[in-house]
Amino acid sequence: MGILCKIASMFGFGSCDKSDEKAAVKPAVKAKAKAAKKTSVASANGKKYVLIGAGPASVRAAETLRKADANCSITMIGEEVESPYSRMALPYYLSGMIKEQGTHLRKSDGHFDGLNINHVHAKVEKIDAKKNKLALNNGDSYDYDQLLIATGSRPANSPFPGSENKGVVNCWTIADGREILDTIKPGSKVALLGAGFIACIIVEAMLKRKVDLTVMLGRTGQMVSRMMDETAGEMIKSWCEAKGVKTILPSSIKSIEAGPALKRDDGSLTEFDLIIVATGVYSNIEFLDDSGIKTDQGILVDASLRTNIKNIYAAGDVAQGVDFSTGGQSVHAIQPTAVDHGRIAAVNMMGGASHYKGSLGMNVLDTAGLVSTSFGSWGGVEGGDTTTLVDEENYKYVRLNFKDDLLVGAITVGRTDFIGVMRGLIQSEVPLGEWKEKLIEDPTLIMNAYLAKSLDVA
Ligand SMILES: Cc1cc2nc3c(=O)[nH]c(=O)nc-3n(C[C@H](O)[C@H](O)[C@H](O)COP(=O)(O)OP(=O)(O)OC[C@H]3O[C@@H](n4cnc5c(N)ncnc54)[C@H](O)[C@@H]3O)c2cc1C
Repeated sequence: MGILCKIASMFGFGSCDKSDEKAAVKPAVKAKAKAAKKTSVASANGKKYVLIGAGPASVRAAETLRKADANCSITMIGEEVESPYSRMALPYYLSGMIKEQGTHLRKSDGHFDGLNINHVHAKVEKIDAKKNKLALNNGDSYDYDQLLIATGSRPANSPFPGSENKGVVNCWTIADGREILDTIKPGSKVALLGAGFIACIIVEAMLKRKVDLTVMLGRTGQMVSRMMDETAGEMIKSWCEAKGVKTILPSSIKSIEAGPALKRDDGSLTEFDLIIVATGVYSNIEFLDDSGIKTDQGILVDASLRTNIKNIYAAGDVAQGVDFSTGGQSVHAIQPTAVDHGRIAAVNMMGGASHYKGSLGMNVLDTAGLVSTSFGSWGGVEGGDTTTLVDEENYKYVRLNFKDDLLVGAITVGRTDFIGVMRGLIQSEVPLGEWKEKLIEDPTLIMNAYLAKSLDVA
């Protein structure tokens, strides 16, 4: 089991792509892929499947299609020159825990050729949904019977002018990872603009590289404010500060200057060796303008991952699909959701009837050794009940949110023992009955509640 799978399964990400190191499917076709130019060519009776993107969602979809149909034509178009890789692995690459090849989603040479999956390195610029055709930035065009859009997301621009200066990077692609590693050494001065989920993971990697780190907090002065409440965010912040991380507020920064340097509100310049921008993410949907595909924050999809157009599906970070907690549609930009989406979309593209029952908003974060989690409605629900247990001195926190006698959301800091159980109780929607009051008195009884009530239901 690879390091990513170990981490994912440790925290109850049951849907970790276990084929991380092995092919998910046995090659149905051994033939070498022919370089498809201009248009993808279906074999004898095969359908033409085109997948845009070469991340976890697309890779899983391509392998699912091939496993079921040895004859269809599968073209996976990704704009990066790399072998398909996992962005989730970048922090482990940065910290030195894995080498670059360890970030690859499939480790064996020729994996995609062996499955007769045609991996094209180009950017899709336009979709003509009426003619079932795509236009690429290299002048080629592809037609399709069924299309999957899995273009993921991209980092938000820095909120300050000057991010084009040398030494200002994102941490999004392998190319970014290489640039960061080429620049930093122990003692380097690094500013990290952002304090969200991805920024916190980068903190961990930077501290392992022993850099002198300054982190720009969120507008409210909090860390991870989109996935944790104030108590948890404060604990994570003071944990980082205790590890030597300096924190600054966005309001204290005017601009990014050459150097690179941060111009502060008092006019002074603080120089850095590197400035990493990690201030949020957006789904990659701009190229869909005029395509007729309906979008909001992402591409709107139903439970089968189908868009408003019959033969076009979307999966992963770019898809705005069923949300387990709210019943509405949300973008859940995490890898387990992307992998699930990819598989389910592929089944449906082949005419199957697989439904996604909704992703549970779920975050598991290791910030310089302090593990924190949030699940479902972590901020509570209107008219619901909440119980908390705080031990600031030892960086331990548990929060449980209930609606009637159901557990609907939870947060933990400094405790990994409850993670699987919390997720299980929320997802299985087991009525807690008398155990709700016991948990309000003592949230640490959650394992007992799980065993009592889940076994009842079983
Ligand atoms: C630093 C970092 C740490 C992370 N840590 C975690 C974590 O711990 N746990 C977790 O669950 N998730 C984590 N994530 C998020 C996770 O990586 C994403 O949820 C996952 O990559 C989504 O997969 P995807 O296939 O939808 O999109 P992506 O992996 O983004 O792949 C999208 C693909 O589409 C391509 N593309 C985009 N536009 C076009 C176009 N127009 N034409 C052709 N190709 C295009 C891209 O080049 C790429 O190949 C992390 C992300 C980052 C950046």
